[in-house]
Amino acid sequence: MKDLGFPRFLGLLGAILLLALGGSFQAKATPTTYQPEAIVVATGIYAIIGPLDQRSRANAGLNANYGFIETPSGVILIDSGASHFAAALIEQAVKKVTDKPIKWVLNTGSQDHRWLGNGYFNERGAEIHAMTPTVNTQREYAAQQIESLKRFVGDQMTGTKPVFAQTMHNAPLTSLVIDGVSLEWLSTNAHYPGDSMIYWPQGSVMFTGDLVYVDRLLSILPQSNVRQAVLAFEALTKKSPAVLIPGHGRVTDLAQAQSETGDYYQFLIENVGTAAQDMSPMTETLDKFATPKAFMHLQNFEALHRANMNRVFLDFEANP
Ligand SMILES: [Zn+2]
Repeated sequence: MKDLGFPRFLGLLGAILLLALGGSFQAKATPTTYQPEAIVVATGIYAIIGPLDQRSRANAGLNANYGFIETPSGVILIDSGASHFAAALIEQAVKKVTDKPIKWVLNTGSQDHRWLGNGYFNERGAEIHAMTPTVNTQREYAAQQIESLKRFVGDQMTGTKPVFAQTMHNAPLTSLVIDGVSLEWLSTNAHYPGDSMIYWPQGSVMFTGDLVYVDRLLSILPQSNVRQAVLAFEALTKKSPAVLIPGHGRVTDLAQAQSETGDYYQFLIENVGTAAQDMSPMTETLDKFATPKAFMHLQNFEALHRANMNRVFLDFEANP
């Protein structure tokens, strides 16, 4: 047998030991390295800014932004995380800044990491709120989302069951007061049907949900609607919030949201959408608009831009 060298031998021994012990550890979810942290946006209002890359065990599927608002008697949490396991990590981040219990959870959307933590908070007494169309989409995608998340986070999905809002609100626009805190809730229907954004007028803060991405390129899914996104972006601009907590990326302002999200929706519609309506060949169109200078600096550009164009082309071809 070839000499492995002592350090390599130790590594091999470690691997064998891990294999032997593996069985007894399976009940416990894999530990994460990402620890969500609350940052203050205004007095009593916080954002949790997730990493920009893909879902993984290392980030527990929390590759998105969350937020919370302190009320006199509790905490309103905006979006609940990707699983039971991930929800507990969000709860820890909240507990670091306040002892108040999370009494209300508001879902801005129906993508996995926006709502699959609902069950965790509901079991601990929180009341889940969402707009009716959001819940309809959650119901449609729940099983598929849980299955697909298992491929990214594995056993961290253990114990995760879809739990839907007990309190549903009318779309496209609702005002509500929770424990003295006034909020406006507006439909966006951009990333997923039924998606929404939540505005806190008192501090001029908007939780945009997946309407706005900064620092990374937004992703257009087969179920996304860029025409709705443009309308929603106009509604966002009209509110002229001082602070935006986007769906992904740093806490920001309207200017960055405009140049990294609003302008990209326009770019896709004006170029790719128009080409599809004009019945231009698809491959030629995708090649022609492959390198838009304004957006190439954004993270995930290489991975997403062509697929985004592809989906917009197909959408405009089918619905000219
Ligand atoms: Zn998202």
